[in-house]
Amino acid sequence: MGENKKLIIFGRQGSGKGTQCAKIVEALGVIHLSTGDILRSNIENQTELGKKVEPLLAAGELVDDATILEIVADRLHQDDVVAQGFILDGFPRTIDQAKGLLDILGTDGIDKAINLDVSIEEVTERILKRGRNDDVADAIKTRLELYESQTVPVIQYFDELGYVETVDGLGEESEVIERILKALQ
Ligand code: AMP
Repeated sequence: MGENKKLIIFGRQGSGKGTQCAKIVEALGVIHLSTGDILRSNIENQTELGKKVEPLLAAGELVDDATILEIVADRLHQDDVVAQGFILDGFPRTIDQAKGLLDILGTDGIDKAINLDVSIEEVTERILKRGRNDDVADAIKTRLELYESQTVPVIQYFDELGYVETVDGLGEESEVIERILKALQ
């Protein structure tokens, strides 16, 4: 695999995906493209998009595919992303988003998708330890359920295309990034 890597990272909430993404960016110089970050910054700036999606994020529900695909298509065509490559984080979350992504990228597709594997039992334990109020607990439950019903099939879809490297997300952060970088070699 050359430079300008085109990557995806999958992982449940609480899998350590955010931390590992930062380490991948540092190691490979790719651009971190998080749909969640883009949506939160729109909410912060109270843009039209931000006002529309705010209640969905609060409830842990998914934003519609067309809106998400528009955001991603825009960003993927910008010069820095084309030059440096990218790691998609929090996208694609549905089969329609996955198909839309492959349409945007054309024949080149992606290079690899990392599946940072931490079980539901383990992430639930990690999340509970952080302590949250009930509203937030509901949103987390919704998000974990949507991950199983919508996103696990996306991982299977990319696996059938031969892109997926599953990496054990348990252990020290330094061990996990080593496993990821090895899987990307
Ligand atoms: P994240 O930071 O990736 O966990 O995303 C936070 C929230 O933003 C999610 O719970 C969804 O409400 C929304 N969101 C982020 N990415 C997507 C996506 N690809 N499709 C639909 N909704 C998304």
